[in-house]
This record gives sequence, structure tokens and C-alpha cells, in this order.
Amino acid sequence: MLETTVVVIGGGATGMGTLRDLSMRGVPAILLEQGGIAHGTSSRFHGLLHSGCRYVVNDPESAHECIEENMILRRIGKGCVEVTEGFFVLTPKDDSNFVEPWLKGCDAAGIKVKEITPAEALKLEPNLAPDIQRVFRVPDSCVDGFRLVLHNRMSAERYGGRAYLYHKVEEIKQRNGAICGVTARNLMTGELMEIACRVVVNAAGSWSGEVAAMAGLEAAITPDRGTLVVFNHRFTSRVINRLHPSSDGDIFVPHGSVTILGTTSMPTDRPDDTTPTYPEVTRLLEIGEPLFPKVHEYRILRAFAGTRPLYTPGGASGRKASRNFNVVDHAADGLDGMVSIFGGKLTTYRLMAERVTDDVCRRLKVTTPCRTAEEPLIETPDPAVLARAAKLFPVRALNLMADRLGDDLTKTLQIAEVAAVAAKNTKNTHITDFGGGNPLLCECEMVCLAEVECVARDPSTHSLTDIRLRTRLGMGTCQGTFCSLRSVASLVEHGIPLEFAPADSMCRFLQERWKGLRPVLWGQQAREMEFSRAVYAGILNLDGAMHEQNN
Ligand SMILES: Cc1cc2nc3c(=O)[nH]c(=O)nc-3n(C[C@H](O)[C@H](O)[C@H](O)COP(=O)(O)OP(=O)(O)OC[C@H]3O[C@@H](n4cnc5c(N)ncnc54)[C@H](O)[C@@H]3O)c2cc1C
Repeated sequence: MLETTVVVIGGGATGMGTLRDLSMRGVPAILLEQGGIAHGTSSRFHGLLHSGCRYVVNDPESAHECIEENMILRRIGKGCVEVTEGFFVLTPKDDSNFVEPWLKGCDAAGIKVKEITPAEALKLEPNLAPDIQRVFRVPDSCVDGFRLVLHNRMSAERYGGRAYLYHKVEEIKQRNGAICGVTARNLMTGELMEIACRVVVNAAGSWSGEVAAMAGLEAAITPDRGTLVVFNHRFTSRVINRLHPSSDGDIFVPHGSVTILGTTSMPTDRPDDTTPTYPEVTRLLEIGEPLFPKVHEYRILRAFAGTRPLYTPGGASGRKASRNFNVVDHAADGLDGMVSIFGGKLTTYRLMAERVTDDVCRRLKVTTPCRTAEEPLIETPDPAVLARAAKLFPVRALNLMADRLGDDLTKTLQIAEVAAVAAKNTKNTHITDFGGGNPLLCECEMVCLAEVECVARDPSTHSLTDIRLRTRLGMGTCQGTFCSLRSVASLVEHGIPLEFAPADSMCRFLQERWKGLRPVLWGQQAREMEFSRAVYAGILNLDGAMHEQNN
């Protein structure tokens, strides 16, 4: 049986941030996550690092927290944040009376806002509708959820924290009204893992109501589903918001090489209700049109959905429910040692982690102060390492790769250097290799073999999807059509096995892509899907349909 002081349930931004904070304060802790990296909402969200402007009228406390955390994350999470700024745009369809209370709210929350003329705005963002009425520059930014979770994990591990992925908590144990441990199942092997502990932190997001119930507690968590649309290109450099009270589908967020539009808001009874639908996509396009009139013509790559963990003790739902967070110490419900953290936003994950860790530390009489707002999540890459890497990776992708890899950059570089020496000795250099032995496997996101190999060798990697979540392989225009086959073949060639047989690995990977492609199958995307089907079903017979025809 493992022993620790604190078990954190849930490896999203909040849970991983809590593991980091506990570990930095010297509290022994283990995190258990039922899926892979950022399996829950922390990867199924809009990617907006809120300035807080969206909440200034209805939720000033949230607005204040957002602007403070926004500034902190720009400092500590440079590899995860792209500082883009944002526009709030009043269109002819919006009520101009909303502008004054909104400006007063921004001022009260301490958010710097500057008005520019529509003509200036159109110079900066030429794809915006020409009839926009007023435009305000705000400090919105973009944040990568996968990377944020991964970098928090890396930081936590440097301080001795341990995170087990694919481990689902099935039982929370108590003795005489106090927590004494948990039982988790390793979902890869089916084995049970017993962990003795004094405190359990429930950071299970939309699942936290279910986790509370495991301990015999009631928690008013209503998962709220939101769908988002991903366009194939970046038609805005900034985050573009409609200047009106929060409603569906009114924010465009540039993210790497794509743009994300969202989001809807609809109550659901399942935290894993994440299949987007065609009507949701068409509704989003209609609502987005006043900002970008050509939105119907842009190529859509896919759609996806996530569920918000709304804390609804008074029965509020949807957009009426507060986006604030709540730390609940269940000692008041008769269970000592169990603390839940409910609600919130990804933007405020660090603050949420700090508050819940403060609560745990008070109980354990640990007085070490929180330092998560000061210390960067990962080290800034050493220029000498980057110079070595420039010889073996595409130069354009170097900074992207360094940001993605964080602490694994040096390890990946070593893999590429060994491959370069081996390729030189065997004269087996492929034409697309960078420095030999390190071919580019995913052109859309510029991911090389050495990076895939490094991630594939990590014990918490089991599938091609795990590799995708850490490298972005298959997330660009081809949606895995070319890179899944290349990656699986390269891993086989290098003797690095995944959990499933090669053909199975590809099927699972493509099936996951299919979920997001299905509601957007028209125009170019439908053509591409047919092409992908021709490769995998027609040529490779992955779905076995040809055997059926022959029988
Ligand atoms: C559509 C949408 C758009 C959004 N856009 C934004 C935005 O632009 N900006 C922003 O700041 N916020 C946004 N949010 C909110 C934000 O994404 C969430 O508040 C945040 O990601 C929640 O993080 P979390 O760690 O609390 O939960 P999660 O990321 O869901 O993590 C909880 C984890 O617990 C795990 N878990 C559950 N049960 C168990 C168990 N029994 N054992 C082990 N593990 C378990 C789950 O697998 C999951 O990974 C958005 C939310 C949605 C739905």
C-alpha cells in the first residue's frame, strides 16, 4: 500500500495546480487522474485567458480575479500563454446602452481598456465586419490547456509530487468520521491501488459531484455543456468578443494556427457529454456572423465540446450560475479531511489551487507560504540547447517545440542527436530528415520523430492519442490522415510499443478525430474526410470492409 499525506482526485488544471502547490510547500501528495493529460474540461475549453472584461457587469469578483491571474500566468506560464490582447466590439446588433456600465465595470475591476476607432480596428483586423460601431482594446490572451496541465505536473514532480494517469478513484475510505485513504483502479491493467492518506482534495471538475457522492456527501454540481468550432486558419490575430451581456457563441479566439469560436451553454446530466452536434455548429456560425461576415465561408476543421463544473447550490443554471469558485471543507458535513473545490475557470486555476492548498495546510499546521505566483512553471530554455536543437529540428518550429516539451526538451534533443549519429554511420538519411534520423512526422503542427519518440517512451503514454495531447500531432489540417500512419510506422520501426497493436492504435486515433469531424462535414472538410477514408478504409482496409465484400 502506498502512503502519502494528501490525495488529489482529478488531473485537470485545478488538480495539477493543487499538486504543484502542495509539493512546493513540502506536503507529500499523490494525484490520481482517470484519463490522460488534461482529459477533462481543461482541454475542452475555449483557450481564452480572460482579462475579466466579460464578467465586469454581472460578476465583478470574478472579473477582478481574472485580471490578477491573467497577469500572473503571463509571468509564470510563458510557454503556455500567447499574449495577443483582445477587442470588445459593438456591432449594429448590440445595445449601445451596455457600453457605459461595461466601461464603469472595467474601471472598477482595474482592467485597462482603450477605445480605438473602427477604422483603426479594421487595419489591425481586416476580416472584421466593416459596419462595426465601437471597438475597445483589452488585455485578453490565449492559453494552451494541455501544456498548462503538463507544465504544472513537471513543476510538481520537481518538488516530489507524484501523478498517476489512467487511475480512477473508486472508493474513498473513512474511519471514525475521518478520511483514511482511497482505492483507485489502474484502467490500463485493471489492478487496484490502495493509498493511505489523511486528506483528500476533490478537484474532479464536472465529476466532483460524483466524487463527493463516493464519500457519502452531497454536492450541487451541474455539468453545463459548451460546444466550440475550430476553423482551419487564423483569421484574427486577437481575441474578438461581442460587446454585449454574455451569451452564446460570441468570442473568437486565435490559437496557434487555428481560430476557435464558441461557446454554447446547456445543462447536461453527464460530465462526459462531449459529442458536438450539427445544430450547435450552425447556431454558432449564425451568432458569429455580425463580427466576421465571411464566417460561413471559412473552412471548419472540427467541433468539440466540454462540460463546465457549475456549482449551483441555490438551483441557478446555465449563464445565470456564477463562474466563481468555492472551496468546501466537508468537516462541516461530518467528514474530516475531505475538501472539495468547485466551479471557477481555467484562468483562475492557480488561485483555486492556492485557496484549497491554504485550507489543507491550515489543517496540517503547515505554515510554508504559497509561491506558485512567483516561480515559473518551467525553466526558460538554455540558448545553448536551442542552438544545438536548431541543427536537428525545423527552425520555424523550434520555439513551439521548446514550449511544448518544457523539461523534456534536453531529453528530446539527445534522442535526435543519437539518431543523427546513427543515420550518418548507416548513410540512411531520409530526404525530409532534419540533421539525419529525425523526420518530420506531422507537417501541420511541425512535430518530428524525436519528439514523438520522447513522449512515447514516457510511462504515462499508452496510445497515439496520448502522444497527440502532448505534441499536437494530428491536430492540424490533415486531422491525422498523414501523420498517424507515419507515427505508428516510425514507432514500430524503432521498437517502441504502444498499448495497442499498430492497426488498432490508428483506428482508435482516427475514431477520436471522427467524433469532431462528423458535425462539420461539408465543403473542403467533407472532401478531406473522403480522402482520409480512401487511405485508411480503401487502401489499408483498416475497417475490414473489404474482407466482408470478398466473403
Ligand atoms: C466549452 C467551455 C469553454 C470554456 N472556456 C473557457 C475559457 O476560454 N477560459 C477559461 O478560463 N475557462 C473556460 N472554461 C472553463 C474551464 O475550462 C474549466 O473551468 C476548467 O478547465 C476546469 O478545470 P478542472 O481542473 O477544475 O476540471 P477538469 O479539467 O475537468 O479536471 C477534472 C478531472 O478529474 C478527473 N476525474 C473525474 N473523476 C475522477 C475519478 N473518479 N478518479 C480520477 N480522476 C477523476 C477527470 O477525468 C478530469 O480530468 C470553459 C469551459 C467550457 C466547458
